[in-house]
Amino acid sequence: VRRAVIFDLDGTLVDERAAADAAASRWSASHGQRVDDAAARWAEIGERHFLRYQAREISFGEQRRARVREFLGAPLRDEEADARFADYLRLYEEAWTLFDDALPGIARARAAGLAVAVLTNGDAEQQRRKVRLLGLAPEIDHLIASSTLPHGKPHASAFAAALERLGCGPDEALMVGDSLSDDAHAAIAVGIPAVLIDRTDRHRHAAVPRVRSLTEIDYAS
Ligand SMILES: [Mg+2]
Repeated sequence: VRRAVIFDLDGTLVDERAAADAAASRWSASHGQRVDDAAARWAEIGERHFLRYQAREISFGEQRRARVREFLGAPLRDEEADARFADYLRLYEEAWTLFDDALPGIARARAAGLAVAVLTNGDAEQQRRKVRLLGLAPEIDHLIASSTLPHGKPHASAFAAALERLGCGPDEALMVGDSLSDDAHAAIAVGIPAVLIDRTDRHRHAAVPRVRSLTEIDYAS
């Protein structure tokens, strides 16, 4: 019997990429950078340093500074890099937005009698803030962020931590996320059924259950 659903946050409930792109364009323009490829460059640089943070090579604060220094090509002091990142962060938070199907999708899970957890690779404080500002907090029973865990997704222990919080076994839960590797494949590898949310049909050949809207998920099966 299904008792819980575990949602990924960024790219699944929150349109994180759109927010980051909008903020990057505005922020880089304010630093006199060429705007046409700013968002893509900022994202590429960010992903690289975020992976180092996830591998616990550098701290959350250090990956932000490294990102600013590389993007601006300037050997900024820590305080300068922090100040520039804070400017970006303000624009980024202003642009945070839910996907249209996020609240209806969670409501359907609730209507099916399921507990709702969010398992996200990221900083607990930032993700809590995001969930609160977007009005998601009352809809979520548990928020589990990788910064509070020994490892993030796709590590098996991240899913085990979510199941423990939910008090249910792997086959009583359903994982829903936009990452084929970190959400879908990783959950299935530990025995949690998974659904890939693929709004743009990027993974049409993936051999996992796939939906284009969170409102399409069949929680009964
Ligand atoms: Mg995601």
